[in-house]
Amino acid sequence: MKKTILLSTTLILTTTLIAQTKPNQDSLVKEAAKTEFWEPVPKMVTTGKTNTETPSDAIALFDGKDLLKWEKEKGGQPGWKIDKDGALTVVKGSGNIATKQGFGDCQLHIEWREPAVIAGASQTRGNSGIFFMGRYELQVLDSYNNPTYVNGQAGSIYKQHIPLVNASKKPGEWQTYDVIFTAPRFYSDGKLQSPARITVLHNGILVQNNVEIKGHTEWIGQPKYEVHSDKEALVLQDHGLDGGQPMSYRNIWVREL
Ligand code: MG
Repeated sequence: MKKTILLSTTLILTTTLIAQTKPNQDSLVKEAAKTEFWEPVPKMVTTGKTNTETPSDAIALFDGKDLLKWEKEKGGQPGWKIDKDGALTVVKGSGNIATKQGFGDCQLHIEWREPAVIAGASQTRGNSGIFFMGRYELQVLDSYNNPTYVNGQAGSIYKQHIPLVNASKKPGEWQTYDVIFTAPRFYSDGKLQSPARITVLHNGILVQNNVEIKGHTEWIGQPKYEVHSDKEALVLQDHGLDGGQPMSYRNIWVREL
């Protein structure tokens, strides 16, 4: 009898203890809520029918109709031509074109096509480029079976970063770049506070993963930083009279970040 009482008492005590230490559902929910953020609510954005079409909050820089948002890099009307199919084609020797608006941190979508007729080799085969802030070049080149220095092929940050893979399509096919660019920051005395960074998807494939840009693009010598403003023009390169055929762009849009 004594044994039974003792056992029952132990059981009651144990049950009480468990009940006390096990938190109830309400207190768990309360605890979890401490790490929930409900604001700011991300803005709803309507996507295009495909992820290459302009989303609702982007600035359409070129939609196949006009060059109103562009000028010659050195000033004046851009010399490139809009084809019947809405492609923007380089007129070789006419000079680089630049957006009238400046951009700092941004997401860029741009489509480009190398000429189907192969002319030139290595760096003269469809060479162009996208210069963020007018200085930092993401190379555009026909890199489909076209040996060249690898830090100068398509998807490279010219003379700075080799692409992780070669995601090039055949000449004559449209290709895409989707880019996340972080502008460099400078102290008020002009010294570099933090370098620019860039992530690039080439035809949907990651080729640059948040790499650090070492300074403005140099053909000869080492890159270095020079202070510039928070927002600068996006520039597209006319590689000049190099013997290659002119290449084209279309569907260019940017989202400021
Ligand atoms: Mg180039």
